[in-house]
Amino acid sequence: MYIRPGTMLGMLGGGQLGRMFTMAAQQMGYRVTVLDPAAESPAANIAERHLQADYLDYRALDELGSTCAAVTIEFENVPAQALRYLAQRCIVSPNAESVSIAQNRILEKQFLMENGFPVVPFVAIRSEKDISRKIDASLFPCILKISQFGYDGKGQIQIENTDILPERFADLGSRPCVLEKRLPLAHEISVILARDNHNRITFFPVPENRHVKGILDTSIVPAGLSDKIIEEACEIARQVAIRLNYIGVLCVEFFVLNNDQVLVNEIAPRPHNSGHYSLDACITSQFEQQVRVLCGLPHGSTKQVQAAVMINILGDLWQNDEPAWDQILRHSQAKLHLYGKREAKPGRKMGHFTVLADSTEEAFLQAQHIRHDLQ
Ligand code: ADP
Ligand code: MG
Repeated sequence: MYIRPGTMLGMLGGGQLGRMFTMAAQQMGYRVTVLDPAAESPAANIAERHLQADYLDYRALDELGSTCAAVTIEFENVPAQALRYLAQRCIVSPNAESVSIAQNRILEKQFLMENGFPVVPFVAIRSEKDISRKIDASLFPCILKISQFGYDGKGQIQIENTDILPERFADLGSRPCVLEKRLPLAHEISVILARDNHNRITFFPVPENRHVKGILDTSIVPAGLSDKIIEEACEIARQVAIRLNYIGVLCVEFFVLNNDQVLVNEIAPRPHNSGHYSLDACITSQFEQQVRVLCGLPHGSTKQVQAAVMINILGDLWQNDEPAWDQILRHSQAKLHLYGKREAKPGRKMGHFTVLADSTEEAFLQAQHIRHDLQ
């Protein structure tokens, strides 16, 4: 049994990940309803139907659940309760439990620790009380991260010593946080996989990710790291998916230290920015895979057909004018993706481009030329 093309699928969230899911679904003949509270959004603007309502609007959820065969998500901050409610009406993946863990750094770290996965040393700070308790000096320097609703490095403050901790905790609104040791990172990589309800798992080629000010800037694929590191990360991601009883596309972000130690940074219960290269460089993209797994269809091949470098286009590029898109497209091996957001703001992800080449070195060089031309 599978969900046939022509059927309506549901998407919770209207951002660019929802838009690219919608495009992949529509390409395969599905229709999509987007539930998102905003009047317009990248996904709702192209979907067949937009339910403009809060994620916990039960009338909207009833409507979604009764008109869609299956529902998925594009960001982790959908209330898990909405997924539980919908699951009584239609197929929902990923499951509410996985999402509730991934949307809360404290629960996420606890889940990872309890299951023996390697994580960065941390303490949970739920209130001032947890600060007054002595925090081991070896944890410093640290990063204080709000437990919920942080993204793209937002809701994070660098902490050099215990003295300034109470003040910084207050700066973050005295909300539950994790205080995490700041480590010298040799590399960051991400494993993106898809798992179906028969425990079939497919992996995408692993990118190396470079961040600027906490925001993903560049993904280089394949990552030029040893097979041992890549295999270890993939095996951890596989075990995470199994432990979560996860169905759908999952991303596990990793830190790699100088001694080749691999640590889990965080989990995203959805396709990931670092997997956007797959739209152009792989036989099946992460979004098509999301559609396939949601609909009970066979996985597509994740084989990468060319080396790729993906670079995010942030709102910062809109200084006085639109960026010169023809400068990107002058490079015939570059693919431009814009998300149709009307307003450009600094730090806001407006689109990305991917350069394809015979080697990552070549793709990287071309990508730097384009970046230079754009500035
Ligand atoms: P977000 O949810 O905003 O992606 P992350 O926890 O992944 O938050 O942090 C964003 C980036 O900040 C990471 O990709 C990494 O570059 C840097 N970073 C986060 N935690 C640490 C750490 N403990 N040590 C060193 N760098 C870190
Ligand atoms: Mg991250």
